[in-house]
Amino acid sequence: MFEKEMATGQNAVIDAMRISRTVQKELTGADAITKSDKSPVTIADFAAQAIICKILKEHFPAIPIVAEENSEVLKKPENRAILEKVLYYITNDKKIKDIPDKDALFQAIDLGTGEPTNDVFWALDPIDGTKGFLRGEQFAIALALIVNGEVQLGILGCPNLDLGNHGRVLFAEKGSGAYTMDSETRNRKKMGVSTITVPEKMRFVESYVSSHSNMDMQLHIARVLKLEQDPVRMDSQVKYGVLAAGQAEIYLRIPHPKTPDYQEKIWDHAAGSLIVEEAGGVVTDTLGKKLDFSVGKTLANNRGIFASIPAIHTRILEIIRELNQENPMMT
Ligand code: AMP
Ligand code: MG
Repeated sequence: MFEKEMATGQNAVIDAMRISRTVQKELTGADAITKSDKSPVTIADFAAQAIICKILKEHFPAIPIVAEENSEVLKKPENRAILEKVLYYITNDKKIKDIPDKDALFQAIDLGTGEPTNDVFWALDPIDGTKGFLRGEQFAIALALIVNGEVQLGILGCPNLDLGNHGRVLFAEKGSGAYTMDSETRNRKKMGVSTITVPEKMRFVESYVSSHSNMDMQLHIARVLKLEQDPVRMDSQVKYGVLAAGQAEIYLRIPHPKTPDYQEKIWDHAAGSLIVEEAGGVVTDTLGKKLDFSVGKTLANNRGIFASIPAIHTRILEIIRELNQENPMMT
């Protein structure tokens, strides 16, 4: 149904993966800016957003793009060196020819300043897991198409995710399954979640950044289930990818006690959650509610995130419910 959107989205993500990989290899400490919300943004965030927005708008001029970044900080004189580097990487790329100077760059980045609509829009996180990116670890380029509040397409570029020879572009269209694809050969392979049924054998993934979720509570749940392996910590929506590929069974994101009212951003979950569902997994919030992508830039109607496989989902929701009754402040 969204064939053209899928093909164009994949091409855009693959172009952005190429640049982000180069930037990550050559990264220095001076390549990041700290935004007003204290989160970092890098050369690669701006480059990836510019490239993807430019391609999407060329093919779908009427579809708004709701992306994480804008050009404001990049225009500040103190960030001149970062601006020069973004331009350097873009103008030296073998394929990208239509962002020749800084004005074109600012314009391309700001194509992503659209607002969510009830009709159709793209949600884009150009570099999800910027902190992982800066550490030389996991990050994802995350693009989703949301139609009438439902995620219809999800594409995750995961340059550092090793799925053997399965490829590092993960994608799904609602109702059509989830796939991995090699960005060079474009060979694809169907993904499916793990078929493990014994809770003790299940594997847990969670955020690397400890302030993004309630790790004490998550550890407690892992102990209740008597999981044999320690949780694996990694940044970004790569966690959803690992679940969809059957390499883990449980991804919990219980709000951190210091930020109990944190509202998850749509671009942090749209693509990944569809990929897990289409691979046969279940995604809800920590109270068991379906994720609601129809209420703006955040998941304001949800509390935390919980992705897992059907064999364990209900059981873990019950454990959370019991913990909630014992101490409503904890989860
Ligand atoms: P992850 O690597 O899975 O922890 O996801 C990174 C994302 O976490 C970032 O893109 C932020 O949007 C988001 N984030 C920032 N602060 C919080 C918070 N207090 N709780 C949950 N997520 C957060
Ligand atoms: Mg993000």
